[in-house]
Amino acid sequence: MVESNGEERKLSCREVEPLETFRIEVKGIVQGVGFRPFVHRLVEKWGFTGWVRNTSYGAQLELTGERGAFLHFLDELENGSPPLARIESVQYEERAPREYEGFEILPSEAGERMETLVSPDVGICADCRRELFDPADRRFRYPFINCTNCGPRFTIIKSVPYDRASTSMASFPMCPDCEREFHDIRDRRYHAQPDCCAKCGPSCFYLDAAGREVPGDAIELARAGIRAGKIVCVKGLGGMHLACLPEPGIANELRRRKRRDEKPFALMCRSLDSARALCRVSAAEAEALESFRKPIVLLEKRDANSFKYLSENAYLGVMLPYTPLHLLLMGEDIDCLVMTSANVSETPIISDNAEALRELHGIADGFLLHNRDIQTKCDDSLIRIYEGRDYPLRRSRGYVPYPLTLPVKRRLLACGAEQKASFCLSKPGHVFPSQHMGDLKNAETLENWEGQIGHFAGLFDIEPEAIACDMHPDYLSTAYAEERAEAEDLPLLRVQHHHAHMAACMADNGLDGECLGLVWDGTGYGSDGAIWGGELLAGGYADFRRAGSVRPIPLAGGDAAIEEPWRVGAALLRESGLDTAGFEGESGYAAVLKMLETGTNCPRSSGMGRLFDGASAILGIKMRAGYEGQGAVLLEAAAAENEDGEYPFGLCESGGVLTLDWRETVRALCADGESAAVRAARFMNTLVSAAAEQLRRVSRETGLRRAVLSGGVFQNMYIMKRLPERLRREGLEVFTHSRVSCNDEGISLGQLMVLEASL
Ligand code: ZN
Ligand code: ZN
Ligand code: FE
Repeated sequence: MVESNGEERKLSCREVEPLETFRIEVKGIVQGVGFRPFVHRLVEKWGFTGWVRNTSYGAQLELTGERGAFLHFLDELENGSPPLARIESVQYEERAPREYEGFEILPSEAGERMETLVSPDVGICADCRRELFDPADRRFRYPFINCTNCGPRFTIIKSVPYDRASTSMASFPMCPDCEREFHDIRDRRYHAQPDCCAKCGPSCFYLDAAGREVPGDAIELARAGIRAGKIVCVKGLGGMHLACLPEPGIANELRRRKRRDEKPFALMCRSLDSARALCRVSAAEAEALESFRKPIVLLEKRDANSFKYLSENAYLGVMLPYTPLHLLLMGEDIDCLVMTSANVSETPIISDNAEALRELHGIADGFLLHNRDIQTKCDDSLIRIYEGRDYPLRRSRGYVPYPLTLPVKRRLLACGAEQKASFCLSKPGHVFPSQHMGDLKNAETLENWEGQIGHFAGLFDIEPEAIACDMHPDYLSTAYAEERAEAEDLPLLRVQHHHAHMAACMADNGLDGECLGLVWDGTGYGSDGAIWGGELLAGGYADFRRAGSVRPIPLAGGDAAIEEPWRVGAALLRESGLDTAGFEGESGYAAVLKMLETGTNCPRSSGMGRLFDGASAILGIKMRAGYEGQGAVLLEAAAAENEDGEYPFGLCESGGVLTLDWRETVRALCADGESAAVRAARFMNTLVSAAAEQLRRVSRETGLRRAVLSGGVFQNMYIMKRLPERLRREGLEVFTHSRVSCNDEGISLGQLMVLEASL
């Protein structure tokens, strides 16, 4: 076999060529993504005969034709394949010349175990969009128009093989017109399983607040409601949204009804131009917004102080309409909608009609629903663009269930962490990270998470031979892993939380061997049973050493200190020998002080997130958190942009661990008479310098030059704009996430890699 490469294809064609036969192996995701019709068109264009068939690894072709044409064909195959196909390699070899009658699509080889890959849901394509607004098209204004290149996939699939009968389209038999398209290889809808039209497919309906169906055009009724200031539940691809106009009174009312006090709301903008009116949009951000994945992209507000009622920081989460229903909903005149996942306090996104009517009673003023069932819940994905690449914060719709291609040899299950739950399953060559799941402490979320493990295992035919989980004894994911390992008599590996973060970032970048891992997050169970979270590790998948850390902070009341950052602020002050009287007005002050003095109910944490919380409390920015990590978010939002100053810090070595001592920093922070904005910036500059110094020393000592950055703190863009650059100046090679999240959602990938390395 010859690895196809550009060089050979530059050979010029001879005048008259004899017919030759080539066998081609295409590896990657080429099934159910319009690959065979694409090949068919190319074959016709270049006048080949032969056949194509699906295989366990992709597709196999045999073609007879002219050599020159063949080289052109290879070029187009690799560079012009349909948007959803993902070609990993193309290899070919010459065969004895053989004549074929025409071109055939052969059935898959009998008895072969098929490698089933399932496409994520895909945002509406340009062709379908054109037809949607073409009065002459038979699908004019049909809210479920789709084709081979777009539409629902993952969220409607019940089982494989992927055909209509195994999706929630099973209850919609095709009309003769749709049937004809489905079987015509020249048609864009050839083998598009969810293909349908107004005659045969799903339809929308609109219900009032009491759940009574309102006669009339459902979409127009929803539009009228929204324009009149109502909050309307809209059924999307992977779940329901609550939609309303982005006006302060309405958005605040939605916040009140949803009890989502301070978390930011996402927006759906009608077009890139409407997004640009609110936010700065770089070329890479525009590309991400318009990509078939259609994620929510965090964009910088034009005016950092605008839209505080939507998001209290400098960013807005923006997505473009990704289904025909959304396009029709926004019409010509609605430029922008608040679109927030419909759920009630931390439960999974609502996906079922009856559930929506029940759970959103008193929250939604109306319901725009339809009769195509959502088989799998899948939230909107949330990303940033960082250094020109995706920086995922929530990997979900549009990404899942595409696998990562990694040199894994076994079938494994990794159960992830808890608050930002996910899981990973693997089979040789591929790792399948789950969608975003939410907090497992919620019973419905736990149930959904367990159900999805089973669903993935079925879809991808994976029976795990070993299981990984976190070291935390109280995580519900750990309990599940323990129970299952016991019941099925499987090896169980408990992976240290920050080692898993580090391994996740290594796998994300395809690294092997040893490197340094700077892992900054809130809370993770340490190998010594203490709470870790500001760690510098050295090692690889198989093993690690704790080379650096942060001086532990006493958390008065344990978890209560995470909810009330002022408790951390008081602890920082007290440990630094400063007066805590500034927090006297906080309720529970006396009790907290007592705990700090006696050390009772005061677990110590080296969590970097806590240091941020404490600083934000000392600066008077946030005393009580509405959500985990809010103190850090607001500290970032408050920081002055062009401030270079910093405070002193200590680094002391003991037992081979280089520990950052923040006491001097806290004293300088308190003594600084500048504004909170300047002090917030100086505080974070100090952490950047401290990390750089820590890494410089450990790198010199270990000889390791590569550093991965992971952990939830690295969602902070103030740090991310400065730290990697600084480390590169120190001569380190820096790697950040681009395929899974740096927060705990990414942990399952790391656990899986550590498990693989241990076997
Ligand atoms: Zn389409
Ligand atoms: Zn039809
Ligand atoms: Fe973590």
